[in-house]
Amino acid sequence: MGIRLRTKGTSYGVKLPENKLTHESPIEPIPLPQKVIIPLHQNLGAPCQALVKRGQEVLAGQKIGDSERFVNAPVHATISGEISAITTVINPPTGQPVAAFVITSDGADRWVELEPPEEPEALSVKEILGKIRGAGLVGLGGATFPTHVKLSPPEGKKIDTVILNGCECEPYITSDHRVMLEYGEKILSGLNIIRKVLSPHNIYIAIEDNKPDAIDHLEKLILAMGFKEDFKIIPLKSQYPMGAEKTLLNTLLGREVPIGGLPLDVGVVVHNVGTAKAIHDAVFEGRPFVERVVTVTGAVKNPKNLLVRLGTPLRNLIDYCGGIDGKAGEIVLGGPMMGISQPDLDFPVTKGTGCVLVKESSPIRERDCISCGRCLKACPMHLMPTMLTKYAKAGRYDDCKKFYIDNCFECGTCAYVCPANIPIVQYTKIAKSELIKRAATR
Ligand code: SF4
Ligand code: SF4
Repeated sequence: MGIRLRTKGTSYGVKLPENKLTHESPIEPIPLPQKVIIPLHQNLGAPCQALVKRGQEVLAGQKIGDSERFVNAPVHATISGEISAITTVINPPTGQPVAAFVITSDGADRWVELEPPEEPEALSVKEILGKIRGAGLVGLGGATFPTHVKLSPPEGKKIDTVILNGCECEPYITSDHRVMLEYGEKILSGLNIIRKVLSPHNIYIAIEDNKPDAIDHLEKLILAMGFKEDFKIIPLKSQYPMGAEKTLLNTLLGREVPIGGLPLDVGVVVHNVGTAKAIHDAVFEGRPFVERVVTVTGAVKNPKNLLVRLGTPLRNLIDYCGGIDGKAGEIVLGGPMMGISQPDLDFPVTKGTGCVLVKESSPIRERDCISCGRCLKACPMHLMPTMLTKYAKAGRYDDCKKFYIDNCFECGTCAYVCPANIPIVQYTKIAKSELIKRAATR
């Protein structure tokens, strides 16, 4: 099916200072930690049940948590050693306590035996999905939706377009940019696996035009690997929040995801470039998902892109980057727009952690709304942030639903443009969390 692509950006969204301090910093593996903390719930969907006990020896890559639920991804030990404790950590996106294993390292980095298939190209779709689920893969762009679920559209839903998302539109973050430059072959191999599973008509690789080296590199690899007829790179205007799934497919394809719906409702699946690389590792190498690339940036002495075993405490990453430089006001998991504040430096890197940003924030005074309308103009979902804030502040959470609060994906654009410094996203987060609590007690 022919599709008329739109690549010029949109009337909504904002142009932000990029502050990509680490775009030229190659990915560095950091030394293995003495201990890791592995939460049993690191995906959207059901949590895992424990498969090991305190005192048990484990190997790197060994599955230590799983569930029978479909919308779930298992978790693995990321170093070898002993399950020395079972603890609780507060999961930043939900604010809910989550059970977690503490593994104390034996210093040997002993691994389970990986079982790469003899003929990966001969695997059936069912076998591929089994390997992806078994590896514990989730969307690495931050959404953490289990990858095998995204690759299994319900009966009757035909996917005609796959978009590989290399936009990385948030300021400061460069982990996807470096993954495209350093793991390009694996990304394209992973995308080819996605093609085999979904058989779409169109496959686009969307990259913002502020990453010309990544565009050039992947163009050359597409030719060298014989994918010229299959994959098309689409350079997009650098504009926030271009990389958000719904805005991306609206910008590129002109398709609107229905309220409460998913991209697959309009025939599209979007995957992050890092996820495609991890799909290659799972299918071709039988490798469980135990490490990822994390940008450590902002007020640290030496900002870097690091290859980190999941479960490594944030403190280790910041120390490896020379420590905090100056007066840090806040540690944020993610970028400055959508990131979540994390006060505990012993909190671990999890599957969804693409960036640790050390912010030098100073207190900001919230003022009254002056009805300037900037937030309405900037919202990529055409919502009315003023009404969401008004009703959230008043505790009238059910009224927030009348203004489609479920369609807010917390991009922070409205708060960024607000001259009155109103923390609109915080109000919408509170309202959403209260609505979830109410729904659970009904
Ligand atoms: S209301 Fe939600 S979706 Fe709209 S700009 Fe604000 S945070 Fe983004
Ligand atoms: S941008 Fe801020 S001040 Fe302007 S209408 Fe929106 S909430 Fe009010």
